Amino acid sequence: MPELPEVELVKRDLSAVEGLTVDEVTVSDYVTSGHEAGRKTIIKQPVPLFVGEMTGAEIIKVGRRGKYLYFILKKFEETYYLMSHLGMSGGYFHVRSFNDIQELNYRKHWQVQFTLSDGTFLVYSDIRRFGEMQVVPSFSAFLPLSAMAPEYTDAASREYFLHQLSKDKYQNKQIKAVIMDAGVIPGVGNIYASESLYSAGILPSRKVRYISKARLNTLFDEIVNVFELSLLNGGSTISDYRSLSGSSGKMQDRFNVYQKKTCPKGHEIKTKIIAGRNTFYCTRCQK
Ligand SMILES: [Zn+2]
Repeated sequence: MPELPEVELVKRDLSAVEGLTVDEVTVSDYVTSGHEAGRKTIIKQPVPLFVGEMTGAEIIKVGRRGKYLYFILKKFEETYYLMSHLGMSGGYFHVRSFNDIQELNYRKHWQVQFTLSDGTFLVYSDIRRFGEMQVVPSFSAFLPLSAMAPEYTDAASREYFLHQLSKDKYQNKQIKAVIMDAGVIPGVGNIYASESLYSAGILPSRKVRYISKARLNTLFDEIVNVFELSLLNGGSTISDYRSLSGSSGKMQDRFNVYQKKTCPKGHEIKTKIIAGRNTFYCTRCQK
C-alpha cells in the first residue's frame, strides 16, 4: 500500500498535467459493472455525474493531504476538486499512448482514462480496486480530511501529535495502531510504522500510557526521518507502488525490520499481527 512518501512522489510527478484540460473521460468495464451492481467501484458517486464534472475541467494544480491526492479543477470560472486515494494498489500513468504503460498488469487493470488537451493520457490503474475517486465542491465537503492532523512538514505537527497522544482515548491503545491514525499524524502505514518504531526503540505493542513523552518525541522525529529517507530513495516498491513513469523506488533496500529476518544488530526479528497487519520488530532493540 502506498504510504505518505509514495503518494507525495506521485503528486510531484503529476505536476506534469497541471495546466492541461480533460477533453474526455473513459471508465473501464470493471467500474461500469461494479456500479451496475451497486458497489461504487473506484468512483464514489454516480459515474455520469463524475464524467460530466471532469470533462472540460482544467487541472490547475495537484496537491496531497495525508494519503489523498487532490486535483484543483476549474471550469466556467468555478473551482472544485477531484479527490483521489490510491487504495492498496492504485497508480497513475501519464503517457502519450496507452501501450506506453510498460507492465501488462497495469494495462489490464486500467480503471479511468483522462484524455488531455495536449493529446496525452492520464491513466489510473488499480489491480485490487480499493482506490477511490470523487469530485467535491470544497475540502470541507470531503469528510476524511476534516479530522486529519497537520502534515508532518507543518510547524504545528509535533505539538499536535504529542497533544493527541496525551488524550484519554489513546492511552490504552497500542502505539502502532495510534501512529497509523490520520487524526494523530497523517500518512503512516504498515511499513513505516514498523520502521519508525524500530528506530525509536519502542515496541509496537506498547500501550501509549507506558511510553514517556520524551520517547514519543523521539518517535515523531523517527517518523519524519523515515518519510524523508523514503522520499530521497524514490519510495518503497514492496508490492504495487509505481511512479508515474512506471519506475520503482529503492527504499525497500533501506528497511531495518520490515520483511527482514534479523535487525541491523543481528537479532532475530519477530512478527505479530498488530492493528490488523503483520508487524516486524526486535524485542532486544525495542522496549
Ligand atoms: Zn535488534
